[in-house]
Amino acid sequence: MEYIFGADVGGSSTKLGVFDREGKLIAERTVPTVTSGGGERIIPDIARAVKSLSGELEPGAKILGMGMAVPGPVEAGGMVNGCVNLGWGRKDAAGEMAVLTDFPVFLLNDANAAALGEVWQGAARNCGGGAFMVTLGTGVGGAFIFGEQVVNGANGAGGEIGHMTVNPREIEQCTCGRRGCLEQYVSTRGMVRTAKEQMGLHPESTLLSCDELSGKIIFEQALAGDEAAIKTVRLTADILGQALACAAAICDPEVFIIGGGLSGGGDYYLEQIVESYRRSVMYPCRETKFVIASLGHQAGMYGAARFAMGFLKGV
Ligand SMILES: [Zn+2]
Repeated sequence: MEYIFGADVGGSSTKLGVFDREGKLIAERTVPTVTSGGGERIIPDIARAVKSLSGELEPGAKILGMGMAVPGPVEAGGMVNGCVNLGWGRKDAAGEMAVLTDFPVFLLNDANAAALGEVWQGAARNCGGGAFMVTLGTGVGGAFIFGEQVVNGANGAGGEIGHMTVNPREIEQCTCGRRGCLEQYVSTRGMVRTAKEQMGLHPESTLLSCDELSGKIIFEQALAGDEAAIKTVRLTADILGQALACAAAICDPEVFIIGGGLSGGGDYYLEQIVESYRRSVMYPCRETKFVIASLGHQAGMYGAARFAMGFLKGV
């Protein structure tokens, strides 16, 4: 049998999986990420886990190659252009991994990998007409996949909707250094900030008695009828729906995929996002499908494996 590895390298751990050519996950590992010393141990640690997983396959098993997703921009030539969370600067991560594993390695950005994974084996399977995925967590990632190909763009920033300006009058700074990015409103931090503003207007809110606010608590309290939480969810969904309507004007996908921690808001959140989207979008795109991501933390390693398959002859 022939196999492909997929790795999703993250700031706290790497998810590593070995797949058959049909996309079935055969075995997986989690490798802790050690970021000290400029992240120099990360690649050797993953390579050791790759060797160990390879040893569990049947005798004569052939490893075709590996895809590796990283939390940073990847240049057209395959170089990583800085991963703050890993301690990496500009680095030939694929080349270093290929030397240690003895098979070809292909690099892509992690948001792109998650989207590709969902299109290949997840919530947006068989979606030939393009899929746009937005990942809502600490930050906001975005990716556009067309025909199982990542649309990475000239600068590796294709689909990065999180840093689209949605409020030019914002006074607080975004993590990217600019002001008024989508991420400032629809990330976990953005949602908590909106909740705090709403708590000021609703002194009766149950949110005031919570020690630490999170997306999960805000959704729970909204479903329980708390006015400040309901308004927070509505305002956040409004901004996200409008931003996705802008994305539709550019790439007109067949489906939008909502992923990341805040997708835990489920149908309650999704319905409000879709409502806002439909109010804002130009008419040919009104019926675009919306789905919640289904592969969770595994999406990136699935997508990384699929990305590698695209380069490997005969796959
Ligand atoms: Zn920004």
